[in-house]
Amino acid sequence: MTGSADTALVVGGGVAGLAAAASMLQQGWSVTVLEQAPEFTEVGAGLALTANGLSALAGLGLGDTARATGHRLHMAGTMNERGDWLMRIP
Ligand SMILES: Cc1cc2nc3c(=O)[nH]c(=O)nc-3n(C[C@H](O)[C@H](O)[C@H](O)COP(=O)(O)OP(=O)(O)OC[C@H]3O[C@@H](n4cnc5c(N)ncnc54)[C@H](O)[C@@H]3O)c2cc1C
Repeated sequence: MTGSADTALVVGGGVAGLAAAASMLQQGWSVTVLEQAPEFTEVGAGLALTANGLSALAGLGLGDTARATGHRLHMAGTMNERGDWLMRIP
């Protein structure tokens, strides 16, 4: 990140790289993202976002999009093998 033109090179198009790139774009930077993968494909896993993740997306102006494309979990957490809750996230 040098020079008067406010340009940035982001290596990696994962959530961290894309969030950084989106944030800099919103600040008027010129951003190039380099991603080694030839394409993004489904990996067969859901993505759970907690409140801080949604807050971060809202900060990027993506909160409404995230809410519209996801669905709300009323209770999540971790159970042991007997089905007892070890940790609950309301
Ligand atoms: C099965 C599974 C389920 C998960 N579920 C959740 C969940 O529900 N909620 C949650 O918050 N997190 C979840 N995680 C964790 C979450 O996926 C990671 O924390 C997150 O993806 C990390 O983001 P990142 O951008 O730092 O790294 P990554 O997502 O790993 O992205 C890094 C990117 O950089 C690219 N790259 C690497 N080296 C180079 C290079 N030299 N040049 C160019 N590109 C390069 C890679 O190809 C990749 O696309 C899960 C992870 C897994 C594996």
